[in-house]
Amino acid sequence: MVSEVLKKIGERRRFVLTSHARPDGDAVGSALACGQILRMMGKEAEVVLRDGVPRIYQPLPFADRVLKTDRVNGNYEAAIILECDSIQRTRLEGLENRFLISIDHHLSGRPFADVNWIDAKAVATAELVYRLAREAGVGITADIATCLYTAVLTDTGSFMFAGTNEHTFSLARELVIAGADPARCARNIYFAHSTAKMRLLGAALSSLHREGALAWIWITREQMERCEAKEEDCEGLVNYALSIQDVEVAAFFRELPDGRYRVSLRSKGGLNVATVAEQFGGGGHECASGLSLDGPLSVAVARVVARLRLGPTVQ
Ligand code: 5GP
Repeated sequence: MVSEVLKKIGERRRFVLTSHARPDGDAVGSALACGQILRMMGKEAEVVLRDGVPRIYQPLPFADRVLKTDRVNGNYEAAIILECDSIQRTRLEGLENRFLISIDHHLSGRPFADVNWIDAKAVATAELVYRLAREAGVGITADIATCLYTAVLTDTGSFMFAGTNEHTFSLARELVIAGADPARCARNIYFAHSTAKMRLLGAALSSLHREGALAWIWITREQMERCEAKEEDCEGLVNYALSIQDVEVAAFFRELPDGRYRVSLRSKGGLNVATVAEQFGGGGHECASGLSLDGPLSVAVARVVARLRLGPTVQ
């Protein structure tokens, strides 16, 4: 499949690259690295993200070149959509009638593009971007390695999620040899939180509910406002609920401006939370997935928790 992607890239010159809205580390790191790899192949490449680059990823190389917009204009010959399983999740207009290349590792990925390179065995989309560079004969610079390492670091939950294996460490090793600095990457991600995020964490933890192997927390709009928090400050809060001993599955509910709820699901590996999310129209991976559903909060929680209770490891 990588050769098919390279063939289509070889036939074109001007590319736009993007990923899903509210991008995580793999979305940002893969898009930034892939953009630079294309430039090194002599192509024009612009990275466009609906929500721009979240604060913790702004120190990454090339992050300052990202265009934050809700519409893709421009005379691009192809759009490369990374780490994203549909046009809708980019929340960008103007992609529909373009030649689309999808590069993704999502279990829930459906082929929606003209060329679809989906490999659920890859630990992160960054792994596919790395393979693309190798296959294209593009050298991995320290800047590219930094973007890819950050993507792998975050998408494996700091090398802790199920699926992390010897190949993950081989990839990380290659990236460190190429110039990624693990301590600096970790510092930018894990020791650079905003004060608002810490206040939000306090509010979220005060809502903690525990029921056997399940734990869930939530944040309302009013709490978000009181903490002066942004959407991106919610990233990772669900992991605190998952970090409790004997909790197998955790959920984080966040009230949206329209009164609906975004839910993040995390599993220690015993329950596939992607299939749970899909039942609500969401998706993701076995151990990390997300969905949206209507409020009010009590109803949203009851519906999701009822589904989670059916899981084999949480009864
Ligand atoms: P998060 O909880 O961090 O928002 O998302 C966890 C994982 O699930 C990520 O890989 C993300 O891409 C995926 N995900 C989250 N929400 C959705 C959704 O609504 N649809 C799909 N298909 N995937 C989602």
